[in-house]
Amino acid sequence: MVAGLAGKRVIVTGAATGIGRACALRLLDAGAHVALWDRNVEALGDTLNAVADRSATALAVEVDVSRADSVSAAFSRTVAAFGGVDAAFNNAGIGAPSLPIEAIDEADYDAVLGVNLKGVWLCMREQIRHFKAHGGGVIVNNASVAGLVALATQAAYCAAKHGVIGLTKVAAVEGAAAGIRVNAICPGAVQTPILAHLEKAGIDQQVLASMSPQNRIADPREIAEVVQFLLSEASSFITGAAVPVDGGWSAQ
Ligand code: NAD
Repeated sequence: MVAGLAGKRVIVTGAATGIGRACALRLLDAGAHVALWDRNVEALGDTLNAVADRSATALAVEVDVSRADSVSAAFSRTVAAFGGVDAAFNNAGIGAPSLPIEAIDEADYDAVLGVNLKGVWLCMREQIRHFKAHGGGVIVNNASVAGLVALATQAAYCAAKHGVIGLTKVAAVEGAAAGIRVNAICPGAVQTPILAHLEKAGIDQQVLASMSPQNRIADPREIAEVVQFLLSEASSFITGAAVPVDGGWSAQ
């Protein structure tokens, strides 16, 4: 077990499915109290059922991370239930239609930036205000390999994910003196429902797998291991980093 997470109060956004779900389960296994934030209440119920026999606390919170009022209400609800917040994994995100930059619809662009970039800022705003008033805290943001390199036909998604890395670096620099650490992870292809967007556009699993020298798609639990490390004291001297978890994709 990685030291330092037992008893910590952690928010995981986008916890109903995929990477967020795997991380929430991993953190609960490590003894953390986890607030599972998501807009998909039905799937959140499935995740909660998976943790029903665990001793640590799991709290389901309905939220739309792209709306300030919703994020603020979710944060207040979490603090009321847990008595405070020590850490957060800002993970909620959506996929984008695969189109060249000149064909992207304005509403699609706004939706992707609204959830994947503004949503991370709105969540960090609440978290950092709280951490500054309570002696510090730890944040991990879920960017993507698309925050490090270009993915053709994914301009809005790439712009949002590059932006998440920018937000992460600024928050790390601004928060260091207040005991706040902020890092981003940059996963390559991971087996989750979000891949359906790419499959709909005709990009099959083998093409995605071949983007990494390991020639495979990751299991969400492989991402959860890294998130757990970055949220824990084991990574106490890491802040402002954008950590590839991509089987070597971005090394090429
Ligand atoms: P997913 O679709 O399984 O999970 C995303 C979760 O976010 C869902 O539960 C969804 O309901 C929730 N969500 C979406 N919009 C929301 C909103 N406005 N408010 C609250 N919750 C919202 O997909 P995933 O692959 O697990 O994605 C998680 C994160 O990982 C995303 O930020 C994604 O961009 C990133 N990522 C995924 C991959 C991959 O290959 N799967 C690779 C790199 C990065």
